Amino acid sequence: MADDIFADATAFGFETRAIRAGQRHDAATGAVVTPISLATTFVQEEPGVHRGYEYSRTNNPTRQALQECLASLEGAAHGLAFASGMSAEDTLLRTLSPGDHIVLGNDAYGGTFRLISAILAPAGIEWSAADLTDPAELRAAMRPETKVVWIETPTNPLLTVVDIAAIAEVTHAGGAKLVVDNTFATPYLQQPLNQGADVVVHSTTKYCGGHSDVVGGFVATNDTELAERLAYLQNAIGAVGSPFDNYLTLRGLKTLAVRMDRHCENARAVVDLLLGSDKVTHVLYPGLPDHRGHEAASRQMKDFGGMVSFRVKGGADAAMRLTTTTEVFSLAESLGAVESLIEHPGVMTHASAAGSEL
Ligand SMILES: *Cc1c(COP(=O)(O)O)cnc(C)c1O
Repeated sequence: MADDIFADATAFGFETRAIRAGQRHDAATGAVVTPISLATTFVQEEPGVHRGYEYSRTNNPTRQALQECLASLEGAAHGLAFASGMSAEDTLLRTLSPGDHIVLGNDAYGGTFRLISAILAPAGIEWSAADLTDPAELRAAMRPETKVVWIETPTNPLLTVVDIAAIAEVTHAGGAKLVVDNTFATPYLQQPLNQGADVVVHSTTKYCGGHSDVVGGFVATNDTELAERLAYLQNAIGAVGSPFDNYLTLRGLKTLAVRMDRHCENARAVVDLLLGSDKVTHVLYPGLPDHRGHEAASRQMKDFGGMVSFRVKGGADAAMRLTTTTEVFSLAESLGAVESLIEHPGVMTHASAAGSEL
């Protein structure tokens, strides 16, 4: 990455790096856009002598461009792109061994909860959940075997905010590493590595891709030893996206900054509309001063994001009715991208949160 001047976060701003970092003009043709390199294998001058690419599972020029770009946006020395957010998480957690313990925020993404409780736990990984809005709860949950503390901030659907710096301090005091799922905030609004986190993971399927047309995942870190282990696992396990997937995600990143600015602006308009409605009983948005995480969010985020949760009068029946009557917002899972989505988390993505109090 050293030859890429645009990777340097101190020399160029976020928008410039989103468009240029890792994206060298094509040496053969001068093309200004990163080519989609479909080749599965690359010619060698002599056995073992090549130009950095051997076989596309191991590395691929389109994936490499994406990896350098998103790592730069996260302020990370290393980044690895995967076939999905879940495969990024799975590959990362395979650095653990049986007997190691994970502390998971108690309203983690459902897929993360499933991966840890249904796939890793039977393979001998220990885990427990805790309310990580309170660093004292983490201190109580840490064990000598704790290797990873895993948080999201903000979370879905309650938009809970976790103080990254405070949690990093307790995590490190216990000799563990802090992983932050930064899918909701994106590196444009929040850079967890600069707040003390050790690893950032993404579902790039969401805002990074931004157009609801590509599934992908990412891991970023400044820990060189961990990055080497992850590159080994990435090649050994093979959960990599296609060159076209990587191209689409890289294309999405170019407009991430302008899209996030508009998402935040639009979320504020939706919040104002909901607050003015007599059919709405609660509005959850980290930008509201009465939100529990407002103070931490103001400290660690550039703005408050594009997700809004609310509770309507009339309970579950009224909520179900509302989700099927909106005209511009489509009823679908995920965060929305250039289009807007509405969902009922208790029934769709967060059955485990059904009936919970706000
Ligand atoms: C969607 C999502 C994931 C999983 O990513 P996929 O790309 O769907 O595999 C992980 N974490 C969060 C916060 C998500 O929203």
